[in-house]
Amino acid sequence: MIPVANPLAQTKRFEAEIFAAIERVVASGQYILGPEVEHLEAEFAAFTGTGYAVGVANATDALAIALRALDIGPGDEVITVSMTAVATVAAIRMVGATPVLVDIEPDYYTIAPSAINAAISNRTRAVIPVHLYGQPADLESIVDLCSRRGIPVIEDASQAHGAMISGKRVGGIGLIGVFSCYPTKNLGAIGDAGLITTNDPLLAQRLKRLRQYGWESRNWSTESGVNSRLDEIQAAILRVKLRSLVRDNAIRVQIAARYLREFSDLPISLPKVRSSVYHVWHLFVVRVSDRENLQRQLLRLGVSTAIHYPFPVHIQDAYRSHVVVPDLLKVTELYATSVLSIPMYPELSEEDVGTVITAIGRSLASYTD
Ligand SMILES: *Cc1c(COP(=O)(O)O)cnc(C)c1O
Repeated sequence: MIPVANPLAQTKRFEAEIFAAIERVVASGQYILGPEVEHLEAEFAAFTGTGYAVGVANATDALAIALRALDIGPGDEVITVSMTAVATVAAIRMVGATPVLVDIEPDYYTIAPSAINAAISNRTRAVIPVHLYGQPADLESIVDLCSRRGIPVIEDASQAHGAMISGKRVGGIGLIGVFSCYPTKNLGAIGDAGLITTNDPLLAQRLKRLRQYGWESRNWSTESGVNSRLDEIQAAILRVKLRSLVRDNAIRVQIAARYLREFSDLPISLPKVRSSVYHVWHLFVVRVSDRENLQRQLLRLGVSTAIHYPFPVHIQDAYRSHVVVPDLLKVTELYATSVLSIPMYPELSEEDVGTVITAIGRSLASYTD
């Protein structure tokens, strides 16, 4: 069975280096916020072209810490999408702020700048564009319209490590960038991990305080913080994988190009790539009218699929009555019924890509006949 994502294949590929990294940490006796985290932060800041990176426990915390670092809390509104991992919206609720959920661009599945414009109120304190599936949102328009109103932009780059806009990596285009290193992400740990990027030195200091009890220095808190520290073992493993992230993203791009070529005549909607961006294909998502049928047939042919995401956040029990939805989310609701993610990861062999292509061709032929 070909899975949609394959963290085990990646672990095996880097097995020797990962075990060496783990042994180094185990022998060092320093397990939390030590030299591995510091090195990773410096290396990830260099990679993203930002001044600072701050390692945290996961990206949900990263988003909440970023919001707190901007003094966002109860009574404040934060604009984002409903078409995202629930974590984006969960983080806004974690700080007590109100998520304002708007629709996406039909071509690129990322937040629609015109919808942001219409949703801004005098309580708007931040906008969180999500670089969904590995494709950057229209950040140039978003940063432009937000900066004119003094509203900070937090990039949720959890699916887009290494993605670029006009040659500039995401994470440093908005005021703050947030990255998840959940095992299946483009840069994945063997457990939970997250990174926050910024060019602002004072903000970086505050993010570091907030991740550890609000400590300004050891045992002295200047504000109340949380515990969202990053382990040394995860940081050491991420350093191993960061070294091949550019190469791994390039492989994803090649697989995507092959899918796009081979599927061009099939009755499915293919992903479109925005001009002047580097899409890093965290997921390859198509849209089909008879999704359940296609999933079932592919499964029979040895190909797994997944849905990102079947339930928009604004319809879910936990959020329905705690979010503001200023306008209909027509594209979000329509796409939730038809999106389908097919296998995409750098360890996917050419042969397996061929199997996926053949299986999709055969499945679609059998039910469109
Ligand atoms: C994975 C993901 C998150 C959450 O990351 P965790 O590290 O699991 O907390 C947030 N936003 C998006 C868009 C994601 O894909």
